[in-house]
Amino acid sequence: MSSRVLSFDSLAVHAGRDDLAALGVHAPPLDLSSTSPLPGIEVGGASYESMATGGHPVADGGFVYARLWNPTVARFETALAQLERTEESVAFSSGMAAMTATVLAAKAQSGGSHVVAIRPLYGGTDHLLASGLLGVEVTYCTAGDVATTVRSDTCLIVVETPANPTLELVDIGAVVAAAGGRPVLVDNTFATPVLQNPALHGAALVLHSATKYLGGHGDVVGGVVATDATWAAALRRIRAVTGALMHPLAAYLLHRGLTTLPVRVRAQQASAEKTAAWLGSQPAVRRVFFPATPEGDPAGLLGRQMRGPGAMLAIQLTGGYEHAVRVTNSVRLFTHAVSLGGVDSLIQHPAALTHRPVPAEARPAADIVRLSIGLEDVDDLKADLAQALG
Ligand SMILES: *Cc1c(COP(=O)(O)O)cnc(C)c1O
Repeated sequence: MSSRVLSFDSLAVHAGRDDLAALGVHAPPLDLSSTSPLPGIEVGGASYESMATGGHPVADGGFVYARLWNPTVARFETALAQLERTEESVAFSSGMAAMTATVLAAKAQSGGSHVVAIRPLYGGTDHLLASGLLGVEVTYCTAGDVATTVRSDTCLIVVETPANPTLELVDIGAVVAAAGGRPVLVDNTFATPVLQNPALHGAALVLHSATKYLGGHGDVVGGVVATDATWAAALRRIRAVTGALMHPLAAYLLHRGLTTLPVRVRAQQASAEKTAAWLGSQPAVRRVFFPATPEGDPAGLLGRQMRGPGAMLAIQLTGGYEHAVRVTNSVRLFTHAVSLGGVDSLIQHPAALTHRPVPAEARPAADIVRLSIGLEDVDDLKADLAQALG
């Protein structure tokens, strides 16, 4: 290959595949071994020691045990890190396992146990932080209040942009500046690396629920954190001791999913733009939440931070909760289901489902439904919504 730096779309197809030719294969192998033969006691022990403390396997030392290392998972991690423009990435069994490990790593790295969380957040994240299970004290705030909310024992600032479910955009660079050197975690699940690279704006950690766009086909659960080598070692150490591993089959599917990520996201986004514009003219819709609407991006972050509005949108219905029940029960092409980012379109009611564990004052309104726009023909999607809204 030439020395030209590959563009994003080319990286999506080729990243994490450097070792394949030497293996004599074209598609990444799916390595299911739970253990691996030890070349010798000393070198195997050295490899074990390196991986158990967050490092890589030593040369010719073997992978020892699948809780420490798996080549299929490592290929996906290499690819995702390249797409997110970070040194490394660390994959977990789910997005929530990735979030858990990140909070534990942040505590261990700094010694502090205070977390600042910018609302709105994904309901599971909001709930996990508030639960007390991870031994952290959480202060919730808005993006503008970070500078006055951080403390000397703040170990992590958590932010999501676009935020779930109403697609507010947060200026990552401004949050990083307000954090005053403390690490900022950006949940990049909605934007994907196709539309936004938080590390380029100063985020120390970039988290994905890989279950969503990265997999893209609704058949895999996983999480991943893209970050620098120091954080990656801390995260791998926690993964090794707590065991929140990504299964190799999940990594295989995710690595394959990355190859079509740019085309999927751009096609889904084009349909979301058309759907959002059409919904804005529907009498049954009070408000459309979408970054490309005039109210959707007050700080002008589209183009500056995010390369496009994405393919998620939410609508506020004129007929309240009853209307939301009717719409979610009436769709035929959309599936009434949680999750998002797949090739097929989904609709769900955040207040009753994804944001159910969130305290009432931070829960989305009962007349809001969230749409994940898939790859179906946009006219079919609009026709389905038209009959469901009517
Ligand atoms: C789904 C989701 C998560 C949690 O990920 P899981 O893979 O379900 O554990 C975190 N953040 C966002 C924005 C999500 O949509």
